[in-house]
Amino acid sequence: MIPDQVKKLVIATGNKNKLTEIKKILEGLSLEIKTIADFPGLEMPEEDRPTFRGNAAKKAETVSAFSGEMALADDSGLEVEALEGRPGVHSARYAGEEGDYAANNRLLLEELWNIPPEKRGARFIAVIAIALPGGETYFASGVCHGRIAETPRGSGGFGYDPLFVYEPTGQTFAEMPAAKKNMISHRARALRQARELLGRLMDR
Ligand code: IMP
Repeated sequence: MIPDQVKKLVIATGNKNKLTEIKKILEGLSLEIKTIADFPGLEMPEEDRPTFRGNAAKKAETVSAFSGEMALADDSGLEVEALEGRPGVHSARYAGEEGDYAANNRLLLEELWNIPPEKRGARFIAVIAIALPGGETYFASGVCHGRIAETPRGSGGFGYDPLFVYEPTGQTFAEMPAAKKNMISHRARALRQARELLGRLMDR
């Protein structure tokens, strides 16, 4: 059983959209949710590990060590089959500058210019790390399979959403209502697993 004094959870992200999504999925758990803004002086580490798992663990462990509380961090990205898994952990800065979504999407289309539809398979991956103050770290993960469109479609979402076609509906993530994306996305799947894991950790 996690002792009462650690039944707080710090969400280790500076991204407001992620924070909202994470808080919503964790609703109902008897946890006091904190954010990195509650810990002045806390700096998020560089995401320089070669795997999603490594980066998520690094962020969660850094925040847990600084705050003395349980911490949850995620790392996610897009893996494209024809590009041997790229952009992968470099998804946010694939075209150079961190988070330049338009440039990332342009580069992705350029790299796939001669690849036919049947070879444009891709998957989004999300890994969540939950670090306990004692030093143990637990993981949850989620995958969403799809393919890369030939031209961007839709105006919702962020990042690679206008290019990522979800096969069962044929829509890109950017064409889907947010509520639908937030049920089937890699992050939603990983978060549901994380919620179960947190429930188990709290009952131990
Ligand atoms: P991070 O997990 O914040 O490091 O995000 C990595 C990058 O992966 C983002 O900047 C996006 O480019 C991409 N990415 C992750 N999840 C999604 C998604 O749901 N839609 C579109 N792009 C995503």
